[in-house]
Formats: sequence, C-alpha cells, structure tokens
Amino acid sequence: EGRILSISATPLPDEAGAVIVFHDVTADRRHRDELSSFAGVVAHDLLNPLTTIDGWAENLADTLETMPKDDPAVRDAGDSLARITRASSRMRHLINDLLAYTTARNAAIAPVDVALRDLVDEVTNARTDLAAAAGTPTPEFTLGHLDDVRADPVLLRQLLDNLIGNAVKYTAPGTIPRITISSTVDEDALVRVELTDNGIGIPPGHHDAIFTNFHRAHRSSGYAGTGLGLAICKRIVERHGGSISVTDNPAGGSRFTFTLPPAESKLAPAPAAV
Ligand code: ADP
Repeated sequence: EGRILSISATPLPDEAGAVIVFHDVTADRRHRDELSSFAGVVAHDLLNPLTTIDGWAENLADTLETMPKDDPAVRDAGDSLARITRASSRMRHLINDLLAYTTARNAAIAPVDVALRDLVDEVTNARTDLAAAAGTPTPEFTLGHLDDVRADPVLLRQLLDNLIGNAVKYTAPGTIPRITISSTVDEDALVRVELTDNGIGIPPGHHDAIFTNFHRAHRSSGYAGTGLGLAICKRIVERHGGSISVTDNPAGGSRFTFTLPPAESKLAPAPAAV
C-alpha cells in the first residue's frame, strides 16, 4: 500500500550534515480526498431540490402576474419572491463552483494539443454576448500572440472563463472592461499566458490569499461571488504542472499570469539517436 511522505531537510551549522524529517501525511491526504469527493456528491444532490425551488418560484411569479399590481400584499409577495430567487441563484453559483472545484481537484485530466487562440476567442465572444444580454458595458478584448498549449480542453476553458469573467466583473461600475491576453514561451519552455485588466485591482496583502478557497478581497463592495473561482484556477494550472500568480498592472488593474506546457506537435523534434 503506497504511503505519502512529506520530506523536509534542515542543514546543521558548520556543515555538520543535515536533519531530514519524513512526515507520513497519508492519512491527511486521504482525509482531504474523501472530504473533497463528499463535497462533490453533496453539491450534486443539492441541485435537485434547488431546481424544484426555482420551478415553484417561477410558478408563483406567473400567478402574481395575474393579480392586481397596486395591491400592497401582491407587491410584498413580489419582493419576497425576488429575494428567494436571488438567494437561490447565489446558491446555484456556489454549488456549481463546488462541483467545478471537486472536478478540478479529482477528475482525471486528458491533455491534448489546444489552439489557445481559438479557445480564447470562444470564451471572450461568450463574455461579450453575456454583457449584451445583461445590458452591461461591452468588454474590449485585445488578443496578442497566443501559443498552442497541451491541456485538458474542458479544464482549460474553465480556467480561461474564470479569469476572463473576473477581469470583466471586477471593474468599477460603468467602466468599459479592457482586457489584454497574450502569451510568450518562458525559459523553462512553458507557455506563459498574461491577462491584464483595467479593473479595481487587488488590495495590498491579498495577492496570494485570493487563490485559496473562499477568500474574497472585495467582500463589502457588492460584487457577487463565492471565492472559489481562483482556487479552481490554481488547481487546474497546478494539475498541468504550471503555476499561477497575480501582480498589479502598473497602468491600474491587475495582471494574472499562468503557465502551461506547450503543445507537443509544436515542440522541436527530439534529436535522432546516434
Ligand atoms: P469570486 O467568486 O469572489 O469572484 P475568485 O476566487 O474568482 O472568487 O476571486 C477571489 C477574489 O479575488 C475576488 O473575490 C476578488 O476580490 C479578487 N479578484 C479576482 N479577480 C480579480 C480581478 N481581475 N481584479 C480585481 N480583483 C479580483
């Protein structure tokens, strides 16, 4: 039976050697895995009753439509219904994020070569359509060169959608979101993707924490969210062997950077054996 060990080494003074500590974290890890799949099952089961709630709320809304709008009792009922609908929509977001998180954490990943440019096009177009439907300012996307990557296309889409969704969401009300996405190949031959926005920025001291579960840096500012999106992004990137971080955009806003392996078909052919 495999055990999971965490190893740490501390050098002794005067080059007298080092102390190496092996820590058996198998039980910890198992416990975390179990918790995470439990969360997945619960989240999935919560969707059914939620759909029932939404169905009956819609039913009530239809009934209210047929009643006199100037009756205070009808107006009251309408307000209550609006609250129920908002709460249920928040809950649906949370459940979907929990599901996405457990998928990003546990599901088998199937990396293939992906034309990043095409996927970014799809995700940004979908965001533009969403803004039009919601009546919010149309975001402006500037796409630079984008290298092909090797990644699980479902998870990669989720990663891009979360980051681009945040870049659009965390802008001052009424501002046109301006987002630039481009990539380079770094010194380790990984594709480094940069996503720059003109949004409200990350408050000092939150740059690392926003990648942990449920951490929200603008909690009191009225932006809706669950605090799971970036934790999902971090999982996805790390499962592909990359990393993700954020810095301030010198021009205002934020710059998210993540790395992924390059597409294999674009790699230089291996040198012939001699
Ligand atoms: P949420 O559901 O709250 O959007 P995320 O995990 O996606 O959760 O993000 C965590 C927090 O990081 C957000 O609540 C927000 O405070 C901050 N954040 C994320 N993206 C941006 C961004 N592009 N600009 C400014 N703040 C951001």
